[in-house]
Amino acid sequence: MSFTLHGIPVSRGIAIGRAYLIAPAALDVDHYLIEPARIEGEVARFRAAQQGVHEELNALRADLAADAPSEMGAFIDVHTMILNDAMLVQETIDLIRTRRYNVEWALTEQLERLSRHFDDIEDEYLRERKADIEQVVERVLKALAGASNLVDSVHGACDEMIVVAHDIAPADMMQFKTQTFQGFVTDLGGRTSHTAIVARSLGIPAAVGVQHASALIRQDDLIIVDGDHGIVIVDPAPIVLEEYSYRQSEKELEQRKLQRLKFSPTQTLCGTRIELCANIELPEDARAAIESGATGVGLFRTEFLFMNHKDRMPEEEEQFGAYRSAVELMNGLPVTIRTIDVGADKPLDSMGGGDGYETAANPALGLRAIRWSLSEPQMFLTQLRAILRASAFGKVKILIPMLAHAQEIDQTLDLIREAKRQLDDAGIAYDPNVQIGAMIEIPAAAIALPLFLKRLDFLSIGTNDLIQYTLAIDRADNAVAHLYDPLHPAVLHLIAFTLREAKRAGVPVSVCGEMAGDPAMTRLLLGMGLTEFSMHPSQLLEVKQEVLRSHVKTLEKPVADVLASFEPEEVQAALKRVALV
Ligand code: PEP
Ligand code: MG
Repeated sequence: MSFTLHGIPVSRGIAIGRAYLIAPAALDVDHYLIEPARIEGEVARFRAAQQGVHEELNALRADLAADAPSEMGAFIDVHTMILNDAMLVQETIDLIRTRRYNVEWALTEQLERLSRHFDDIEDEYLRERKADIEQVVERVLKALAGASNLVDSVHGACDEMIVVAHDIAPADMMQFKTQTFQGFVTDLGGRTSHTAIVARSLGIPAAVGVQHASALIRQDDLIIVDGDHGIVIVDPAPIVLEEYSYRQSEKELEQRKLQRLKFSPTQTLCGTRIELCANIELPEDARAAIESGATGVGLFRTEFLFMNHKDRMPEEEEQFGAYRSAVELMNGLPVTIRTIDVGADKPLDSMGGGDGYETAANPALGLRAIRWSLSEPQMFLTQLRAILRASAFGKVKILIPMLAHAQEIDQTLDLIREAKRQLDDAGIAYDPNVQIGAMIEIPAAAIALPLFLKRLDFLSIGTNDLIQYTLAIDRADNAVAHLYDPLHPAVLHLIAFTLREAKRAGVPVSVCGEMAGDPAMTRLLLGMGLTEFSMHPSQLLEVKQEVLRSHVKTLEKPVADVLASFEPEEVQAALKRVALV
């Protein structure tokens, strides 16, 4: 039966493919009674799933790197033992045979019983083994559903697949960089959640906040994802499929046409030169940056290097290697390396020291970004040395996230001086004139801009967080996604004020939040005086097309009208005039 779901569009384009469900560890299963004649078939289904998980665990064991911690192997062994334990296997089979429960029901019922036993155990270590049993049961349930663990199973998927999941953590999303999928659909998420940002960087259609998608869509359902409108059509009628296939080919044609703009200089009709830079998450993304015609990297989100490091932070050499590789790939073009921005929706697997942010009531308002770095000075110095060392191989700028206070800026600058001193003492080369900049992403920073203009070499406006903090909207929470509004007068005023004051002080300023990569915002930002944009490479040519069609001088008046408007209808009317000039 065909049906349509609505969510938030986060990455443009149309995808048509089969649903590839990544089940959350859902123990939420069907319950039904088996006909007596089908009981042995149900037992066989359980045995087959058990065998499948066996093979999965064996493969995991065989793939363990030689230097993997020994606990990893032990952990897989424990899971294999549980998988064969009579308490789990025989009792589940008994429930199927005696009560005629379907296997999923029998398995979760048996898990319930075992859990109750474990809760009564005094020994803490043994009590915690309950989690291992749950994980094994989840694996068997996923095998029964035909889907398995994200990390283990994406390798089996192919490029006609559309990933459907309850939620995908940014760190897991990074794994898709090496896989080919047609699109993404998640139940949770907001337009500028980091999961959405990574989906966009992959350049494939995606919709998030599509509530209940992972419950309503079944494995292998044929689905269409309209990433322009956030629509997901399940099991489409032939005529709908035909229409979307046509639209898909039209879009591909448009994309091919855009490629022609790659080598033309980026300037407006009135001759204003505009810099279009790239946002990257991993050093190898610099290739896509060059391919798209970017004139530099405006934002290297280094926290992604720190993710998926389960038991340690990357050492200085490893970080240096990554930064140097991005700098070398950019071949003399500037690379703006942002210091680690963890916390909120980008937690790390391991954080040195008692950070406590995972238990913070409001992680987005907690020990995030520079606040965390300043609380971990040794880790921060390691990163600063690694970045400084990369500056000997090209043009590097250092960008600091989430600054708000004068003393935070001063402390950061002190630590940069300290990192330089340490390199001097060790006789290691770096660029002594490396520029230091601040993200303007907290309203307090924009309002107290003179603090920043006096102390720093450049600024970069992070509109994703500036909107989040100005409007008090958690950017990853789809329950309030409808209130996340880049065009709210308060947001526009903070951006316009920052651009104007930085220009007046002669301090270069760019925008690196998602607004910079949205072609619908290009004219507005140009009219406010922005000349440097940074966005994902996949968005660059569309923005460039808008720049080439714009005339900055004639945009100034309608943009001033937008800024003078407060009522939503007035803002909309003024925006229409911006789009028309
Ligand atoms: C921003 O906040 O706009 C930004 C670019 O940083 P991030 O999205 O990584 O928080
Ligand atoms: Mg930010």
